[in-house]
Amino acid sequence: MEEQIEQMDSEEQEANTCIICGQQKSQGITIVSEFICEDCETEMVRTDVKDDKYDYFIHRMKQIWVQLNA
Ligand SMILES: [Zn+2]
Repeated sequence: MEEQIEQMDSEEQEANTCIICGQQKSQGITIVSEFICEDCETEMVRTDVKDDKYDYFIHRMKQIWVQLNA
């Protein structure tokens, strides 16, 4: 129980390269070994399926799914 709390209390935030926008960000999520920054994650949720941007996101996300199925 105590170990879980310590992990969430980490002060150091490593910068990761977002696979969507390619920028270095510290806030975001990591799926498998790929990082998606908070901004892109938020935008993906908001983007409509009919939007051209959605295709772009899906294209980028496919990199992750390929790794998952490898
Ligand atoms: Zn991003």
